[in-house]
Amino acid sequence: MPPPVFRFAPSPNGYLHLGHAFSALLNFDLARQSGGRFLLRIEDIDATRCRPEYEAAIHEDLAWLGLCWETPVRRQSEHFPAYREAIERLSALGLIYPGFESRAEIARLVEAREKDAPWPRDPDGAPLYPGTAKSLTPAERGRLIASGAPFALRLDMEAAMARVGSVGWTEQGAGPNGETGAVAARPEAWGDVILARKETPTSYHLSVVIDDALQGITHVVRGEDLFWSTSVHRLLQQLLGIPQPAYRHHRLIRDDAGRKLSKSTLATGLRELRAGGATPAKIRQLVGLP
Ligand code: GLU
Repeated sequence: MPPPVFRFAPSPNGYLHLGHAFSALLNFDLARQSGGRFLLRIEDIDATRCRPEYEAAIHEDLAWLGLCWETPVRRQSEHFPAYREAIERLSALGLIYPGFESRAEIARLVEAREKDAPWPRDPDGAPLYPGTAKSLTPAERGRLIASGAPFALRLDMEAAMARVGSVGWTEQGAGPNGETGAVAARPEAWGDVILARKETPTSYHLSVVIDDALQGITHVVRGEDLFWSTSVHRLLQQLLGIPQPAYRHHRLIRDDAGRKLSKSTLATGLRELRAGGATPAKIRQLVGLP
């Protein structure tokens, strides 16, 4: 049996906090306990928000915590062709269409639709795509693309679901409402999700699925805030014919008021805690790890 493979996959769009420390340490410990491997992956597809100093700090903070990981570290921004290829495969299946509405236009469309009744939201609370770009003719699409208009490539969720039928996963941890064991995925709750944009040939959902497969990740261990994203990930794995890892979602570290930690809250930032004299052992204690 090949050894299990775990990963910690932060985005370098801010400094790490106690929540990241918990997730990274948990993955590292599980890898150690099972004779497995531990990888670090830098999820830096969003060039507008990711910065080299945050990436350097991730390496520094994790090393300070006592973690070590295999090299080379995969940086998603260096692998756009792999994601583009997956988009082409989905496109060849007739499951992708471009939507040309700007964020502001989408907000206006949602507002208009909400005059009658509440418009559905995805599990993160964002409104589902309200547009009608799916029904544009090939000629209209061609004309808009040729005009240089920006666009987002969306998954035709109805067609994708029709193709795979039902999909699910075995949850080894728990979701936000204690969901565990056999979970029925609900990708349709996300509507026609964006899988790429004109200027970025991928999205979180697509690149995470491609990379977990390419890196041979056997165990995805991450925060319960990503629990329902797993629905989309399982659907993409089925569509692309790639294996599914085991999933374990873990509790979130919260502040004293019970809120999810944010990268901008200094009180729980690893760098601030370290500057204030905290040791790696203290960090383990703060997040409830032995
Ligand atoms: N890059 C994601 C984040 O920082 C985590 C991705 C994952 O673990 O699936 O929230």
